Amino acid sequence: MNEYDSNRILDLTKKINYTSTKNIKEADCYVLNTCHIREKATDKVYHDIGRVKKEFRYKKKPIVLIAGCVAQAEGEILLEKEKYIDAVVGPQSYHEINKIILNIRNKDKKINSTEFEVIEKFDQLNLVKNSNSKISSFLTIQEGCDKFCKFCVVPYTRGPEYSRSFSEIISEAKQLVNNGSREIILLGQNVNAYNFKNKRLSDLLYLLSEIKNLERIRYTTSHPKDFTSDLIEAHGKCKKLMPLLHLPVQSGSTKILKSMNRDHTIKKYLEIIERLKEKKSSIKFSSDFIIAYPGETEDDFKKTISLVKKVGFINSYSFIFSARPGTPAANLREIDSKIAKERLFFFQNTANEIKKNYRKKLINLTARVLFENKVKNESKFFGRDEYFNSVIVNSSEDLNGKIKNVKINQCNQNTLFGEVILDTEHKEYAA
Ligand code: SAM
Ligand code: SF4
Repeated sequence: MNEYDSNRILDLTKKINYTSTKNIKEADCYVLNTCHIREKATDKVYHDIGRVKKEFRYKKKPIVLIAGCVAQAEGEILLEKEKYIDAVVGPQSYHEINKIILNIRNKDKKINSTEFEVIEKFDQLNLVKNSNSKISSFLTIQEGCDKFCKFCVVPYTRGPEYSRSFSEIISEAKQLVNNGSREIILLGQNVNAYNFKNKRLSDLLYLLSEIKNLERIRYTTSHPKDFTSDLIEAHGKCKKLMPLLHLPVQSGSTKILKSMNRDHTIKKYLEIIERLKEKKSSIKFSSDFIIAYPGETEDDFKKTISLVKKVGFINSYSFIFSARPGTPAANLREIDSKIAKERLFFFQNTANEIKKNYRKKLINLTARVLFENKVKNESKFFGRDEYFNSVIVNSSEDLNGKIKNVKINQCNQNTLFGEVILDTEHKEYAA
């Protein structure tokens, strides 16, 4: 979501004649868009400011803005502690960015803009064309969270759940497709909690599917609690919806899920997976895990390991529990860090082994790959298959924006390597 927000900040600032630069030395204004989900986020801000200070030691300093969730959570402290920062802008008030920049330019005063003005934000954003022209583009449809998992800062930094209207989403999606996007990834902290006048995510998926030249749709991140039957049904019916679902589970132990306030059990989670497979047999899953959550016993941890094996997630993102100030779990007794690290190591080895075996099986099969860009200075193209795996092929033809059949010849942990083949004579993935 920060990538989406950063692009929109760029779209907004174009109105006051700013543009982006890859060369930090040229910047008149430096916007650091931050994430607060795990610890050390604030340290990273100070570290980055240090880098800017060094670059501008003998020059007029640029305007320095801290945006995103660190700004929301620690705005006043940042302004107090680091005088080099001119303003902090929360994730729900960045539509004010031009006013903020002009105020700083005119009056030279510090600004804290961290109100929750999500409706106003999208009202303003709707007036500015989304100029993103990537083959695969993000599109925020929902923001915020009312779930209050005990470990998570999101409800405090992004505010309550809010869903954008159908018309503004469709209009932005059409802009992206007109700019050249062939894939849209719908975003939300709880994207399947989407609800606009009783219209759900499934309704939106069918509507988006009708957009000509939009080839692929994905959405992230969903919550098991909001996984309604209509959405399960849509996975079977909606041809443009890709067959990989990221469905964070956090732990394989229902006891731990309860203490996290997750509001779903492992039984319910597995039921959703089974029902999705019934509708779409080729579907695969990825997930997030928190390792060593306070109270996690060896037995709870084993349950997480057996869940990973049982579902066979093709990608697993795992993190040791990180106590976030202001969240209820921050007051709980943490698990010894040596044990936590050992569990994370064991977990990641298990998950990587599953991923390795899955990838090995793809060799000699055919993937449908949407190509996104040329690899720098080489006659190679980068794309993604339907399962969001990275694929690289050699090609003298410009493949950007095209979907091709690719025979997979090799793989490593992160990338599949293959060759473009004709539509005939291929053995397709899965199903
Ligand atoms: N809304 C999604 C859900 O319900 O699962 C997750 C969104 S959260 C922004 C992304 C991931 O960060 C979570 O799935 C979780 O695994 C991880 N995360 C969040 N807070 C964390 C914490 N305090 N410590 C470790 N990992 C955390
Ligand atoms: Fe955070 Fe997701 Fe839980 Fe909301 S549902 S509090 S975003 S982990």
